[in-house]
Amino acid sequence: MTSSATVRIMSPEEIAARGGGETPFLRFPERTGVFAERAMRLRQLANGHAMGDYLAFMGDLTREQQQALQAMPAVPLPDADTIDRAARAGLPPLPAADWPRDPAWRALVHRIAAALAERAPDGARAGLQQLASADEVYLERQADLLLNGLSTGLDLAAAPVVGAALQTYWTHLLLSVHEQHQGQGAPFGRIDDPTVCPCCGSRPVASITRTAGESLGQRYLHCSLCNLEWHMVRGQCPHCRGTQHLAYQSLDLADAGGDDGSSRATSAKVQAETCEDCGHYLKIVHTDRDPFVDPVADDLSSVTLDLLVSETGLQRHGVNFMLLFGEPEPLLEDGSPPPGRR
Ligand SMILES: [Zn+2]
Ligand SMILES: [Zn+2]
Repeated sequence: MTSSATVRIMSPEEIAARGGGETPFLRFPERTGVFAERAMRLRQLANGHAMGDYLAFMGDLTREQQQALQAMPAVPLPDADTIDRAARAGLPPLPAADWPRDPAWRALVHRIAAALAERAPDGARAGLQQLASADEVYLERQADLLLNGLSTGLDLAAAPVVGAALQTYWTHLLLSVHEQHQGQGAPFGRIDDPTVCPCCGSRPVASITRTAGESLGQRYLHCSLCNLEWHMVRGQCPHCRGTQHLAYQSLDLADAGGDDGSSRATSAKVQAETCEDCGHYLKIVHTDRDPFVDPVADDLSSVTLDLLVSETGLQRHGVNFMLLFGEPEPLLEDGSPPPGRR
């Protein structure tokens, strides 16, 4: 599951440069379970939640991602030269904005939309049926907008499914390259910008704390696109890397104003790590407080925390294709979550 097989064959210098002692720098998603576990978490969170129907529907979508991932055909991968060039330039080898997407990703949109349409609520069915046969021009444009973080022209109703297909395709790319290089050195490692994904250059959806090897409660950033996790020390802003003015907020009032939560009696599974230096925040979910937390699912279920934090004027840094926030207002005026637009 982790890159341990790869780490063993790296030189000590590489390990020091990439991993920092006992903490593996990267954590790879499991091909057989990454989306299935997220789907289970979404179903669990949907129970009794004010946004329960929405979370359950996203759970269905995520379950389709799992089935699609396991049925993925082989797709073109970067060759050794491309990987080498990217590594020497300090760039990600499968950049979201530039990688020539294989048409297989569009087949994923069709497959997922068709499957969901069968059991979608009436209001959503027509849109899904349309998406199930959407043409190349439309889908490629939607993908370009999503992957470049542009909202003008983006079809917000279709974005969760288009985003889900892109996530599935990029997770497949990541794992295929990883599997291809097992035992031959690591194709993925540190890049020049530590705030974006070392595989695809995307922003994180959230941070997650994990116990990695000997080290307790290490912080990883979870990629919003390919599901790779990369290590970043705690106490550092994932947007500007500032260390001076971080604070932590959660919906549990007892946590308000606490430090990283680890030194206080807190049970909040989800916190917002806020930075006064750059005015951004990113959520952090804690596996030691709940082993089933998932960065995407728990981000979706804690939209109320976004409301609370955005009231103080801070900008959301995390990207979640299942919940796109209009810029610059993060939520609708009446406080209802954007997915209700569907
Ligand atoms: Zn990525
Ligand atoms: Zn910052």
